[in-house]
Amino acid sequence: MNDLIQRALDAAERAGAAYADIRIVEREAESLTVKNGALEAANSDHSEGFGVRVLVDGAWGFSASALLEPEEIERVTRQAAAVARASGLAGGDPVVLDETPPQVGRYVTPHQEDPFSVSLDEKLRLLFEADAAMARVDGINVRQSSIECGRERKTFASTQGARVEQEIVEAGAGIDATAVNASESQSRSYPNSSGGQVVTGGFEAVRAMDLAGHAEQIAEEAVALLDAPQCPSGRMTLIIDASQVGLQIHESCGHPIELDRVLGYEASFAGTSFLTLDKLGALQYGSELVNIDADATAPGGLGTFGYDDEGVPAQNVPIVSAGRFVGYLTSRETAPVIGRSSMGSSRAWSWDRIPLIRMTNINLRPGDAGSLEDLVADTRDGLLISTNKSWSIDDRRLNFQFGTQIGWLIRNGKRTQMVRNPTYTGITPQFWGSCDAICGPDEYVIWGVPNCGKGEPIQTGHVGHGAAPARFRDVQVGVGRW
Ligand SMILES: [Zn+2]
Repeated sequence: MNDLIQRALDAAERAGAAYADIRIVEREAESLTVKNGALEAANSDHSEGFGVRVLVDGAWGFSASALLEPEEIERVTRQAAAVARASGLAGGDPVVLDETPPQVGRYVTPHQEDPFSVSLDEKLRLLFEADAAMARVDGINVRQSSIECGRERKTFASTQGARVEQEIVEAGAGIDATAVNASESQSRSYPNSSGGQVVTGGFEAVRAMDLAGHAEQIAEEAVALLDAPQCPSGRMTLIIDASQVGLQIHESCGHPIELDRVLGYEASFAGTSFLTLDKLGALQYGSELVNIDADATAPGGLGTFGYDDEGVPAQNVPIVSAGRFVGYLTSRETAPVIGRSSMGSSRAWSWDRIPLIRMTNINLRPGDAGSLEDLVADTRDGLLISTNKSWSIDDRRLNFQFGTQIGWLIRNGKRTQMVRNPTYTGITPQFWGSCDAICGPDEYVIWGVPNCGKGEPIQTGHVGHGAAPARFRDVQVGVGRW
């Protein structure tokens, strides 16, 4: 492999590149789904190849191939240089990279049990066990359980002398129960909706979820929701569970802090951002309790790694500090625009895609409000909601509406009536400004988002959001249209 890498870097320099890097990537993924007592899907993917990125006359060129052979590596590198020359003809400001020193190192996701060495029988046993537990509840029409495993081995090298090797290991699982009557359907999920919870780590994370142990409860809640009253409308105190706080961070903080969007390089999928450069260090993004970090070093986070795909080491940087907006997600190309070095958030979905700025783990630091039950007890009247069901947010990431699977009214510090179809709306800085309590470290979980879309052609991002349940005052709550 050393020889192949050197050929690419040499060919890039011969083609006039001021800078070049190569990524050789092998990705494996496996997913299993059990539905209504039967194996619904068993998928296994394997992909291997390399991508070469070159900078010629201040413009990028990229090319990739699945054929890892010396002549092909040289051909692809020459092609990348030709693309860069052609891109340069379009004009525009020349790309200038930051001063990140070239890194040499190796990173492997800490894990105990290799997810790919766990037998199919054992994985199916866990899924059928959860399925059977949901089936014991009368009134469930659709039961679904799934497990996902992933592994990525990649080598990065650059003409500046960087050389890093990584092995990222991922594991995840989730269950959903759906009950249907003549007028609507209601679902409950554990540990989260949209495929459950996914982490970097070994299969021990899936075992720790205890899917079967939570199956009956979510099934009972799905059935009960059909007869629960609609969530009331009005302005009220809202307690949001940790997983929905995670998605709230994703949409209203994670995306608008992507500096390529801010600079107008990247505008697909509700791109652009209200966090324009003049807001950095100036905007009060939230209340003084709100501290948000971009932490690619957090153990278990789905956005945790050793180095990004530009060879920049994983870092933990403040984004919102005591409510003040202080940082962006950056790359080696964009960071100099704000006078900084890259904080290491440039990642590509696969060997045949260029790296884009992607979230790492965008985490809301826990507060001092104790457990969720403590927070409910501290709330006179309000609404507690859990588990995302729908989301909508405008291009600039300012006006949003979220729906969750379930809610409970809070009366005199007690969780009372279950309500169905809760939604809430807000405007990002006002909403975070109304945050007056965040639960403590015991309630803090880093939620994985395995399906963040960005770019054309689209790239899937694996990112995370650390969050604990939090309370927001005077929030517009209403009946959803979803
Ligand atoms: Zn996203």
